[in-house]
Formats: sequence, C-alpha cells, structure tokens
Amino acid sequence: MAKFLPPDAFSAQGDALTLLPFNFERIGSSNDYLVANLVGDFVRLTQAELNKLVDLQLQPGDGLYERAYAAHLVTREGQQSQRQLLALRLRSRMSFLRQVTPLHIFVVTLRCEHSCPYCQVSRQSTDRSRFDMSEETAQRSLDVAFQSHSPRIKIEFQGGEPLLNFPLIKTIISAARAKSSTTNKAVDFVIASNLALLDDEILAFCKQNDVLISTSLDGPADLHNKNRPRPGGNSYELAVNGLRRAKEVLGPDRVGALMTTTEASLDRVDDIIDEYLKLELDGIFLRPLSPFGFAIKTKQYHRYDIEKWLAFYENGLRRIIEINRSGKPFREFYAALILSRMMSDRPIGYVDLRSPAGIGIGALVYNYDGSVFASDEGRMLAEAGDNTFRLGHVNKDDYRSLIMSDRLIDTISSSLTQCAPECSSCVFEPHCGADPVYHHATQGDALGIKPLSAFCARQKGVMRLLLRMLEAPSDAAILRSWAT
Ligand code: SF4
Repeated sequence: MAKFLPPDAFSAQGDALTLLPFNFERIGSSNDYLVANLVGDFVRLTQAELNKLVDLQLQPGDGLYERAYAAHLVTREGQQSQRQLLALRLRSRMSFLRQVTPLHIFVVTLRCEHSCPYCQVSRQSTDRSRFDMSEETAQRSLDVAFQSHSPRIKIEFQGGEPLLNFPLIKTIISAARAKSSTTNKAVDFVIASNLALLDDEILAFCKQNDVLISTSLDGPADLHNKNRPRPGGNSYELAVNGLRRAKEVLGPDRVGALMTTTEASLDRVDDIIDEYLKLELDGIFLRPLSPFGFAIKTKQYHRYDIEKWLAFYENGLRRIIEINRSGKPFREFYAALILSRMMSDRPIGYVDLRSPAGIGIGALVYNYDGSVFASDEGRMLAEAGDNTFRLGHVNKDDYRSLIMSDRLIDTISSSLTQCAPECSSCVFEPHCGADPVYHHATQGDALGIKPLSAFCARQKGVMRLLLRMLEAPSDAAILRSWAT
C-alpha cells in the first residue's frame, strides 16, 4: 500500500533564506511598523515580527514566513522567481520612460488680463505685445517637438493668458496637424485658459480640432474673485460661464478645472468642493501653492505652512468620501494618482511625481521668446532671473541637443529618489518622486534636504493619511475604486 511522505519532506530544502530589499518606518507612536517592498506593496508588522524578519528567524508554517514570502520581503538564495517577478513589476512601473517627452508646453504669450497675486508666472500687462511668441519661433518649436521619439505628443498652450494670442494657437494647431500626417505622430491639444476671453468662434475651433480645455476655478464667487482679480472683478462669472459653454459644445469630458489653495481657502474646503459639484465636475485636485513667480514676490507662498495645508486636505478628502458614500461618484485627483501607484503596476508618468524626474524627458517648455525650459516651473524661475533650468533656444538647438544637455542629465541623475539620502530608505519611495525644480527653488539644491522639504512633508502626510483611511473598510472600498 502506498504511503504518504512525512510533512517535512515537502518543506523547502537546501538554499538559505535571504532578504529582498525593503524599507520600513514606525507607525505613529505604536510598536507597529509599515514595511514596503521594492515596488511599494505595504505590510504591517509588529516590532517583534520585524526583528524576526531582519534576523531571518522565520520558519515555514509560522505565519510570518508565509507573509514575508507573499510580500516579496524574503526569498531563497539561488531562487530566481521572486527576483524575476520584482524585476518585471519594476519594469512595468517604470515603463513611462519609453515615452520620451510626450508633453510640449507652448507659452504663446506672457500677457494676461488677470493680476492674481499667487500667479506662478511673471505675467505682463495685456498691451505689451513684445511678450507674444512669433510665428517663426512657433514653427521652430514645433520642429523640436516633432523630433521627440514619443509616438503621441500633447501640445499644451499656456501663458499668461494664451487666448490673448489665439491667432497663433490656430496657426500652430494647423501646422501641427500637417506635421502629424507626414510624420505619423499623433498629436493632442490642450488650452490652459482662465476662459475670460472664450467666445463662440474659439469654441467652434476647439470642437473642430478636438482641443481640450483646462481652466482655473478656486471655489465660490467671493473666494475665486478674491484670489483672481481682473478689471471688473468678474473672473468667477466669466470662468463659470466659459466652463458651462465649453462643456456644452465640447462635451463634459473635454473640460477640466484646477484649484489653488490660498490662505483664504484654508477653512473653505466644503464650499470649494460644493462649487465643483454644482458645476457637475467629476472631481477636484486640492493643490497647494507653488513657490514660484508672483506667489513668492507677493509673499502668498509663505502665508500658510504644510501642516495647515494637510489639515485642509484631510478635511476635503473626508468630505469627498462622504459624498461618494451618499451615491455621488466624485474623486480627489491627487489621492487617485497616489492610490493608482499603490495598487497597480501601471506606469504612471505624472511629470511632477516620478523618479527619474519628469523635467525634459517628461515635458519641454517653449517660452514666448524661443528659450526652451525643462519644466514650466523652470521657466517661472527664469522670469525671476534664475536660468538654471533653461536648456537652450529653438534657433540654435534641436531636440537631441536639448535632451542630451549636461545641465539636464546632471540634474536628473543627481535627484534620483532611488539613491538619494532619506528617500532611498523611505517606505514611500516607490510612490513618490524627485522634484528638482521645487528643491532648487526652495533650498538652492536640486536634490534637496528632505527632512526640511515641504514637498516631502506633503508626500508623507498624504500617503500616511491614505493608508489610515484604507484601514476603514467602507472608506477603502471608495478609495480603491479611484485607483482603477
Ligand atoms: S521626498 Fe520624502 S516622502 Fe518622498 S521618497 Fe523622499 S523622503 Fe520619502
């Protein structure tokens, strides 16, 4: 009669257990630790469990061994499958690098009829047409954009207020369409506008050419008009009318809005979210102020610290969860972005939140005068006299010389989170990003000292909040739905 072998005949033999790369941090003042593997899968371990893991005091059948194996924290020496799986997942997560420079930002004018004190660019008054991009510069910029290797590129028109130079936008779109058909490179268009100058002719053109519209909406009328002054004090009325008309003509999914948190917004998060609901927008991006342009000159940036913004953000996120619980789908887009990174291996190359940083290899910016910058924030610094992120000029450079410039390569390679002090041992690193322009602007160093960085504090604050919320099953179900 056949006999079964004893249980130990089925246990792993031979090769010794070994650790795979992971980072960890203590959860609050508890004795528990958050542990993340190479691709950012989280597990929670007690201090005793973490000690056992680090000392490799694990045995098949003790529960911890199985958890550590499933979370890719340990493997057997000589066993390739765990390492291969991690390598495959990492390759998938980083595959945004195959799309080199998909985004090209054209600053068609620096003129603007608004005078927002937090403006990140150093806008000029409307009558100074020397701040408009010329047709020749636009043509050269298009030549560079079409030299990028990405099979699909997006051209985004910015300013100032780009609609003040709408004739040039029309010229660029028509020339880009012609280039698209001869080069077989697909091209999408976005206009980032305050919508004050939107009219039927512009909308008809956008409809005909499949142009997306992105605008700014800071909340209800009193708050928006306070944040965004213009002659007549009617920025809100024009933005809302424009938004409604654009949704009607282009379709609801062809128009988006962005808000900026000022000091006056901090105790108004419910009002701001209600405004977005009233306009039937499908979500909101609760954005802090950035340390560039007029936001620095007018001292707006220093009016609140990151702790105040995090409290504002948490209140907003909890309110949005309640809205979803009542049956109305509505997302906070920054949380959705981070959750997608936590819960999938999809390549998410959001230019401000990736490592290698998205400067240049994620986006290029063609300024009105032909200067080319590695990011929009980089050109904002240049308007204030700091040319660190100026890569060249469309009259002298081509795509290759811009992307291969020592200045760009040095900055990207010196700011990698994968090997930066603090970041390389941070439990949130797989879901975070390098932001060399921010750290240069605030600390004078592209890498930055992360314990002193408000960017780092925001990242940690948002991710810790999301992980806490994911522990409540009813919140988790809603948050998980945003990640898909
Ligand atoms: S910036 Fe901060 S949160 Fe992001 S990886 Fe570095 S240390 Fe971690």
